[in-house]
Amino acid sequence: MLGAIFGDIVGSAYEHHNTKRMDFPLLSEWSRPTDDTIMTLAVADALMNTWKKGDMEIRAELVKSMQQMGRRYPYAGYGGRFRGWIAAENPRPYNSLGNGSGMRVSPVGWLYHTLDDTLRVAKLTAEVSHNHPEGIKGAQAIAACVFLARAGASKEEIRKYIEDTFEYDLSKSLDNIRGSYYFNPTCPGSVPEAIRAFYEGKNYEDVIRRAVSLGGDSDTIACMAGAVAEAYFGMPEDLKMKALHFLDPYCRGIMEHFREFCHTHDRTIEKEKEGGRPVTNYRSLFTKHLDELDIKYTEIEDNMVKLTISKENQGAIPVLLTFNEGKVPNVSLRSYILAGFAGEKRVAGILACNELNSRLRWGRFSIQDESKVDVEMDACIDEKNVGSVCLFLAGLVMPSIIEAAYPAIMKALWK
Ligand SMILES: [Mg+2]
Repeated sequence: MLGAIFGDIVGSAYEHHNTKRMDFPLLSEWSRPTDDTIMTLAVADALMNTWKKGDMEIRAELVKSMQQMGRRYPYAGYGGRFRGWIAAENPRPYNSLGNGSGMRVSPVGWLYHTLDDTLRVAKLTAEVSHNHPEGIKGAQAIAACVFLARAGASKEEIRKYIEDTFEYDLSKSLDNIRGSYYFNPTCPGSVPEAIRAFYEGKNYEDVIRRAVSLGGDSDTIACMAGAVAEAYFGMPEDLKMKALHFLDPYCRGIMEHFREFCHTHDRTIEKEKEGGRPVTNYRSLFTKHLDELDIKYTEIEDNMVKLTISKENQGAIPVLLTFNEGKVPNVSLRSYILAGFAGEKRVAGILACNELNSRLRWGRFSIQDESKVDVEMDACIDEKNVGSVCLFLAGLVMPSIIEAAYPAIMKALWK
């Protein structure tokens, strides 16, 4: 969420004085948090206050929180109709398709555990004011990007999902758009551009620079692009500090609360079985163990964690752990070796896997698609050993199996 706020701050200096360059100063005396930041914080606050409550309550709290923040910060740069909405005694949605719905939605992408919940709540945050279908779509698209990035999806996967689900055209490069792009504060006229800036960017700052270089509604485009970039790349510590420096104590308080909230509710969530009996959440036991050891990971859905193991001579090995809570709780681990066994090479690949399966019995090798050899293994776990067993398998056994299998795979590939 701070990634969105910093994007807003950087873009604010260029909203009325557009630049089409990439090498502009990130911050200047004109930089400030605008309506994008204020409403993002208002949404975050409302969602924390109504955690696990029903849609009606969430909607009511969103209105309350946005009105309160809007009145507290009246000069943040709201559009005319939204200013009326903030002041209204009984504010009604006004069929807006403005990008106000996209600029404030990023907290949704960080809070929920499933894409369905993310889309549902993103819709709620939009429709209290921006209930035009395009207004709702813009909010859902940005929230979905944040969620998917956080869940470890690749850029291509994110792009495909957004194009298929929301029918945005993400095929045009920023270089092609830039020349003719003009100020367009609607969702369809700025959300796809923001996502494209993320798609092309090499790191968090690069995404912000690309977003601003389009011109137009710079603060909002950079805010939306920054939201996704933070979830995908993470945000450099010095930029985090700079962003926080621009917030007053009240806004910083909400930001800090949100950060803690994400961290704690994520760990304490308890799944309920049909009969209401709480069951052990092995994934959170494992991530707690990783937190204690200060090991980085990504959570994917409710029962999956992705670790990236760095090995000197093998580069980074991604290991996906899936926790299954049945009568016999177990974890399955999956990784892969990149090797193109396309077409006629496929048979050689299968033979190599068979040989490896009989030799290295810890893992199961198979060719799932033509560019990689999948390696799987599983193990029983219990509450006491889940941390150490999973870390042993993911950090030591999986990389050594891959190392041991590598020569045979390469031999099969080049034979
Ligand atoms: Mg603004």
